[in-house]
Amino acid sequence: MTASIAELLREATARLQATSQTPRLDAELLLAHALNWPRARVLAERQYHPSSEQAATFAALVARRSQGEPVAYLIGRREFYGLDLEVTPATLVPRPETELLVELALAEARRLLLARGQVTDWPALTLADIGTGSGAIAVALATHLPEALVYAVDLSAEALAVAGRNIARHGLQGRVRLLHGDLLAPLPEPVDLIVSNPPYTVYAEIAPDVRAYEPRLALDGGPNGTAVYRRLLATVPAALRPHGALLLEIGAWQGHTVAELVRAALPDAEVQVHQDLAGRDRVVVARRAGRQAAERPIGV
Ligand code: GLN
Repeated sequence: MTASIAELLREATARLQATSQTPRLDAELLLAHALNWPRARVLAERQYHPSSEQAATFAALVARRSQGEPVAYLIGRREFYGLDLEVTPATLVPRPETELLVELALAEARRLLLARGQVTDWPALTLADIGTGSGAIAVALATHLPEALVYAVDLSAEALAVAGRNIARHGLQGRVRLLHGDLLAPLPEPVDLIVSNPPYTVYAEIAPDVRAYEPRLALDGGPNGTAVYRRLLATVPAALRPHGALLLEIGAWQGHTVAELVRAALPDAEVQVHQDLAGRDRVVVARRAGRQAAERPIGV
């Protein structure tokens, strides 16, 4: 007699307690994947007895999870901003904190659209997601801003392939354009909004599990975590239109430093640091003024 769903979940949850902060959720997601069922069905049919093959598949997934492998890689997907996304080890697993970056970017985009009034041409707005990875930010922005064209840039061709599938999965072909290259270099024109969750960690200091499984290219921000912000900011003035906004995700300890770097790069901008739900500094927003900016040469 094989074990029931209730029994399998109880055992796996106990086993994952040591590795995961969400052992029950992990067990449910892994079992749903092993059964090829939606998670809701797993929760509803707790007296069902999976076959011994299904139980073995589940046990293998739990074993890998207990070694620290992220659930998102084990099941090949992750929810972000209410959207189901494919993720692979070529991309960082989208984090819930990054939803704040999306929310603030949507607010800036709507502010620009309002100020612009009725625009009949498409796109009414152009955005760039720099270091798009799985495409999570670009897909979320394009989903909620039909007026916009989003350029999604990444240095990793492997990540761009995943982003491309996520764009197709959400029917956003034509509204999100993939560009291969370094930071702002591949942009064909200056944009209204630059959004980025660049690598900003001090790589040697991050959690061993993150280091073991997630791509270094998406995480390593150099010796003090600011190397990529510095390189990015050097080219932002030419790539951001007057009145446009720059939004950068940051580490909790980087609010002051990154805000100062942004002020130095965009002296005409109004700069704010926003906190996430846990009260930690998470996003720097810079709004560019119009007049001074218009006097600068624009063009990449
Ligand atoms: N939030 C990620 C972490 O702390 C870092 C993401 C990044 O470097 N952009 O693991």
